[in-house]
Amino acid sequence: MDVDDIETIAVLGAGNMGHGIAEVAALAGFDVHLRDINEEFVQNGYDQIEWSLGKLAENDQIGDDEADAALDRVTPIVDLEEAVADVDFVVEAVPEKMDIKQNVYRELEQHAPDRAVFATNTSSLSITDLSEVTERPKRFCGMHFFNPPVRMQLVEVIAGDHTDDDVLDLTEDLAEAMGKTPVRVRKDSPGFIVNRVLVPLLNEAAWLVHDDVATVAEVDSTTKYDIGLPMGAFELADQVGVDVAYDVLDYMQDVLGDAYEPCPLLVEKVDAEELGKKTGEGFYDYDDGGAEVPTDEIRDDVADRLTAVMANEVAKLVGNDVADPDEIDEAVMLGAGYPQGPAKMADDAGIQYLYETLDDLHEETGAPRYEPSAELERRASADEPFHGSDDDDGGDAFAYENLAVEVDGHVGHVELDRPHRMNTISADLLDELADAVDALEAHEDVRAILLTGAGEQAFSAGADVTSMAGSADPLDAVELSRKGQQTFGKLEAADVPVVAGIDGYCLGGGMELATCADLRVASERSELGQPEHNLGLLPGWGGTQRLKHIVGEGRAKEIIFTADRYDAADLEEYGFLNEVVDSDDLQDRAWELARDLAAGPPIAQTYTKRAMLAGRESTDAGLEAEAQAFGQLMNTQDLMEGIAAFTSDRDPDFQGE
Ligand code: NAD
Repeated sequence: MDVDDIETIAVLGAGNMGHGIAEVAALAGFDVHLRDINEEFVQNGYDQIEWSLGKLAENDQIGDDEADAALDRVTPIVDLEEAVADVDFVVEAVPEKMDIKQNVYRELEQHAPDRAVFATNTSSLSITDLSEVTERPKRFCGMHFFNPPVRMQLVEVIAGDHTDDDVLDLTEDLAEAMGKTPVRVRKDSPGFIVNRVLVPLLNEAAWLVHDDVATVAEVDSTTKYDIGLPMGAFELADQVGVDVAYDVLDYMQDVLGDAYEPCPLLVEKVDAEELGKKTGEGFYDYDDGGAEVPTDEIRDDVADRLTAVMANEVAKLVGNDVADPDEIDEAVMLGAGYPQGPAKMADDAGIQYLYETLDDLHEETGAPRYEPSAELERRASADEPFHGSDDDDGGDAFAYENLAVEVDGHVGHVELDRPHRMNTISADLLDELADAVDALEAHEDVRAILLTGAGEQAFSAGADVTSMAGSADPLDAVELSRKGQQTFGKLEAADVPVVAGIDGYCLGGGMELATCADLRVASERSELGQPEHNLGLLPGWGGTQRLKHIVGEGRAKEIIFTADRYDAADLEEYGFLNEVVDSDDLQDRAWELARDLAAGPPIAQTYTKRAMLAGRESTDAGLEAEAQAFGQLMNTQDLMEGIAAFTSDRDPDFQGE
C-alpha cells in the first residue's frame, strides 16, 4: 500500500491524544473515523477538535473554509465495526494499560479489513506484545505522536519485532503527509527515543536531591541555565506528571533492569499524590506561583552528572541499534524542545570525560544507574564522539547545528533551522551565520544569498531568550548586541545581493535580520514587528539604526515605539516589504527573486550596494563611491555583454568579469 492509497483513518480513543491525532489527519485531507466507548466521550473529542480548528482559524493559521472542511472530514462513531469496517489505517490512542489495549486489538482484528495497518500511539508499552494479539503483527507498528499533536512536530515510528519495513515506510510517509517529521525507532525498546533520554534524566535529578548532593533549585538552575534545556528537570517532571515519569521508569526497570529504579523521591511524590501541575503541587506549588527557577544556582558537578547519564542513554540506544546519533538528536530536539541534541551535547562535553564521570560514580556508589554502557566505554577508549570529529565532517563546509546551508545553482541558501524554537536566534546561531555568510561570499558559484526560516511558523520569532539568560551581566549584553549588529551587518555589506523570504513570525531580532537583506518578500500570513519596548528593552541588533533607512525615521519610530505586530500588507505599504505573496507561493517566489538577482551583473551589484551603504554615512561619500564605481564598470566584460544582449534583444549572461 502506498500513502496515496490511504483515504480513511480510524482513530480509536477520542481523549487527549486521539482527538489531536484525528484533527491533524483531517487537516491533511484524510477522512477520519473518531471512535470512543460512548457518545459523550466521542462527542467531547469532536467538540475539542472543533474548538481547536476554530482557534487555528482565529489566529489565521488556517482559513475558515479549511477549518470547516477539516471538521467535515471527522465522523464521531461509537460502534467499533462501523468505525473500522472500511478503513485503510488505524491509530489507536486508548488508555495506557496493556489489558485495555490488547482487548481493543482483539476486537479490532475481527472488524478491520486485512489491508489496514494498525499503529499504536503507546508511550511505553511493548509494540511487539501488542502486535501479537492480532493476526497481522507484520502490519503493526508504533506511531508515537507528542502532546499536543497539532503543535508537536515529531512522530516516532517504531518497529515491533515482526513489523515489515514497508509498513514503517508507509507510516513515515503518512506522518509526513500529516505535516510531521517522523523519526524511525528501529527496535521496540522501552521509552523509544525521547522518553528514553528524558526520563532517566528526571530520575537522576531526583537522585541528586534524594542523596543530598544538590537542591531542587540547584538542579533546575543547572538544567535550564547551564545545560540550556527548555525547563528545569523538576519543572519538567511537574509538567508531564510525576506519576507518568514514575510509570515509565517502573516499566524500564522491569524490562531493562535496576539502572532504572525509580528514585524514592518520585515514589514519595506519587504516594502523596503530589503529581505536579495537574494536582496543583509537585516539586513546586502551583497554587503559590509555580516553578521559579533561579538563574544563579548553577553547579558544574550537577551538569556533569546529568549530561553523563544522558550520554549513557544515547550510547545504549546507538549500541543496540535502536537509532543513530543524528536520529536521536533530531527526535529529542523536536520532541522535547532541546536546543541541541543530546549526542551533540555529549560530544561537546567530551565522551571520555563523561565516561570517567560515570565510572568514578559507579565505583564510589556501586549504583547500577552509573554503570557505563559498553558503547560509551568503547567510544571513550577509541576517542570516538557520536558525531565524528570536527575534521571528519566529510569536508562539508556547510555543516551547522542551527542553520541549513546549501548552494543551489548561483544561490547560496541559508535556512534558520530551529523550527522547534520558531527559529529564534541564539549566540551560537549568530556565530554560525557569520561563518556561513563569509563562506558563501567566498564561494565561487554564489551570486546571491537567500535567507529563510525552517518550518511553517516563523522566519524568526526573535532572540532566543533562554540562551541569553546567562547574559544578564551588562557587559556581556553589550557584547551580545555588538555580535548581532556585526553579524547581520555582514549581510548588509555582502558583495552579493541578499533576499529574505519571510513566512510566519518575523519579530524582534528576526526583523532586524530581515532588515539587512536587500529585498524582502513575505507571505500574507506573516506577522512582523519590533516588540522590544514591551519588554523594557530596545532593538539591540541594529534596529534603531537600520530600519529607518528602509521605511524612513517616522515609520521606524512608529514600529519600535508602538511595539505592535504588523500584517505583511501594512509593512508592504510602509516599504519594508518589497512584495507580499500568497502563503503557498512564498518559497517559489523567494527563490525566483534570488535567482533573478543571481543572474544580474555581479560587479555592478557589488558597487551599488557599497555606494548605497557609503551614502548612509554621508551623501557626498556615497556619490563619490558611485562615481568611482561607474568608472570601474567601463572596463568590464559584463558591460559589453549587457550592451550586446540589449541590442540583440536577449537575456545577458553576466560572468562578473
Ligand atoms: P486519555 O485518557 O485522554 O484518552 C483515552 C481515551 O480512550 C478516553 O477517551 C477513553 O474513553 C478512550 N477509550 C477507552 N477504551 C477505549 C476503547 N476500547 N475504544 C476506544 N476508546 C477507548 O489518554 P491519552 O492521554 O489520550 O493517551 C492515549 C494514549 O496515547 C496512551 O497510550 C498514552 O500513553 C499515549 N500518549 C499520551 C501522551 C500524553 O501526553 N497524554 C503523549 C503521547 C502518547
